[in-house]
Formats: sequence, structure tokens, C-alpha cells
Amino acid sequence: MGENFERLVGDYLQALWDAAMDDHIRLALSRAVESFRRNRAAAFKLYPWVEEKAERLREVKDYSLLHVDELAREVKDRVEDLHGNCIIAETVEEAMEYIGDQVKPGDVVVKAKSITSEELHLNPRLEELGCKVYETDLGEFIIQNLGSRPMHILSPAIHVSRERVAELFSKVMGREFPPDIPTLAGAAREFLREKFLEAKVGISGANAIAAETGTTFLIGNEGNTRLVTGLPEKHIVIAGLEKIVPTLQDGMLVVEVVSRYANYKAPAYVSLISGPSKTGDIEKQIVYGAHGPREYHVVLLDNHRREMIKDPVYRQALRCLRCGACLYECTIYPLVAGYYGYLYMGGIGAVFTKYLIGGMENAAPIAYTCTLCGRCKEYCPMKIDVPEMILKLRSELAERGLVPERVRGNVEEITGRKLE
Ligand code: SF4
Repeated sequence: MGENFERLVGDYLQALWDAAMDDHIRLALSRAVESFRRNRAAAFKLYPWVEEKAERLREVKDYSLLHVDELAREVKDRVEDLHGNCIIAETVEEAMEYIGDQVKPGDVVVKAKSITSEELHLNPRLEELGCKVYETDLGEFIIQNLGSRPMHILSPAIHVSRERVAELFSKVMGREFPPDIPTLAGAAREFLREKFLEAKVGISGANAIAAETGTTFLIGNEGNTRLVTGLPEKHIVIAGLEKIVPTLQDGMLVVEVVSRYANYKAPAYVSLISGPSKTGDIEKQIVYGAHGPREYHVVLLDNHRREMIKDPVYRQALRCLRCGACLYECTIYPLVAGYYGYLYMGGIGAVFTKYLIGGMENAAPIAYTCTLCGRCKEYCPMKIDVPEMILKLRSELAERGLVPERVRGNVEEITGRKLE
């Protein structure tokens, strides 16, 4: 294990170094951080009570995590009442098996941004089943065509400069594009239009799910989410159990807090979806599948989340709203983008990596990259104490001997303990 572990750490450090030396990444990140801070300041000035709302939401999220089993059952009952289907999947395999049953070879699948779907490695698995998958969020579309992975939980292509996007689109679409952002956004719109119309299945994540009505909340700005969830015959929602909140009002609270902390005064769109489309306009007889999807499926994913909930220190990570504020304020992230992590990044990413995607070995280098500066906690709407979690994680890593060679001396000096 020692050699493999050191190789993994070596690859990780090499990726960090390459990213830090990449002028495109530095340029794109510096532009993004500056614009994020400016927009967030404007949103907070206009809605100064958002911090008070975030405090209320913290209580809602804590309550929801401690009552997750009953709330998940409530979601399932409500969704099924409204002619939808809902499963509570313990594992990624279970979730994938269910989703696999909803598609056929040859299906065009359009996706709205869903980081939870990455836990399932959904795109390659759907492709293995013979589907053609299109990411429709502009950032995800760029990432998919680059053959890369998301580099920010909210803005996946944050590290890609307009110059690089122009090169990529020119190659993918077979004509030259200038590095002009409105032109590039227009090109993606034109390319994806027909995919929306061809798609049999639309897959989205969820920003929140209200248990009392089984309603999925989706925040969007590009308009792609509405097309993904409205045009195909089937809509599948994939959401971690931590997205469940008790009431519709709580869901709205999530919308408000996420939007402002994610630097938007108000998102262009908020969709509330509680079932397949239907009509009763002919003789009051209800038929499912009017203008929107005929089928609505909700996959609630556990994938070790219940295990996290049992731990009072790690549980707080599940309050995370994926607003991305912590990454912009991190001391490391703006230098190296999402190479500071795997699927989930930054200090909090180390904890998610341990539980949701890569296990302890993959979490280790991320945990040792964190400087414990605490800026993330300061800017986090959910006041998640990342340094506290990182210290706990490092101590667990030390117990298992998962301490990278180059920091062993420091760890032994600080703890006064000789590592195995
Ligand atoms: S940890 Fe906090 S700041 Fe970071 S994405 Fe989650 S909610 Fe936002």
C-alpha cells in the first residue's frame, strides 16, 4: 500500500504543480475570483438580511440530517402519490441499476448540472448502455468536450479561459470562433438546441427536495434546466439524501441563501417539480404526459451519507449548499483550481472524497494540502468548520499510516508521535 500511496500522492502533487504553472488557469481563476467577489458584494448590499436567513437554514439542515430517514420516506410517499417513482438507493450500484432500467440503447440523454451524478460515473455508464449523453450546462458542456473533469462545484469550467473555449468549440463544431464570450455562449446554444428536441431522457440534480410535497427545487440561470426537465419523455432527478428539507418554505430558504452566496442577486429561473406532466382537460380524466415528461423518477442517494450523519464532526459537511463561496476564498484553490481535490475539492472536498468518492487514500493528499487558515468557514453560509474536520481526518489518516512521506517529519514533530 505504501508504494501505491506515495505514487498517488506524487501524481497529485505533479498535477498541482502543473496547474500552478499554467497561465491559462491563473488568468481564468483571477478573472473569476474578482468577478465573484464583486457580484457577491452587490447581492449582499441589496439583501443584507441574507446572513440571518443562512443562520435559520443551518438549523433546518441540522434538523433534516438528524431526521433523514423519516424525511426520505416522506419524499418517496409524496412522489409516488403524484404518479412519480422514487427510490432510496443505498449504493451507487443500486442507483445506477435503477437509472439503467430507465434508458434504452440509442437514447439521447440530456443532462443539467449534477455533481451527485459524477459519484455514479453516470456519463460513461450511460454510454456503455448505448446512450448518447449531452451535458447542457455551458461549463459542463465545455468540460465534457475537453474530456476533463469539473474544476469547481458550481462553475465546472472555471479554469478554462475564453481563448481555450474558442479553440475547443472551433474543433467540435467545425468552424472558427473568436474568443468572444457571447459568441461562444451562442454557439453552444445553437449546437444543443436539436439535442434537447431529440432527447428521450432528461437528468438533473436538485438544490433541495421538500419532503412535505416531494417537490424538487432547481435553481438555474442558463435556461437549460427547464429544457432538460421539460422536453424529454422522462425526467430523472439524482440527489444526495442531504438535499431533503422538511417543507416548501425550507426549500425556498435554500434557494435564497444559495443564490446570494453564489453571487447572484436572483437566479433567472427556479423550478419546482413534483411529478410528471398531466392534464385533466378532457372530461376531467387525468392523463400523464401532457407537454412535459410522462415519467418522473427521483433517485435519493445514500452512498455513505448516513454514515457521515452519525459522526457529529463530519455531519456538518452535509449542510453544504454547493454555493462554491469557500473555494473562491481559499488560499490554495485560486492557484490550482480543482486539482486541489478530485470530484469534490477544497478542504471540504477531502471529507467528501473520504466518504462519497475516493476513500481515505484519495482524501489524504487533499487533507494535507489544506492550510487550516479557516477562511472557508468565515465565508461559508453554513459555517462548516473545515479545519476541525481536516484535523480529525488527518488524525484518522495518521492512525492508518496514510501520511505522505514528505510531511511525516512535520506530523511526528507536532504530535510527538512516531508514525508507523
Ligand atoms: S462548504 Fe460552505 S461555502 Fe463551501 S460550497 Fe459548501 S456551503 Fe458553500
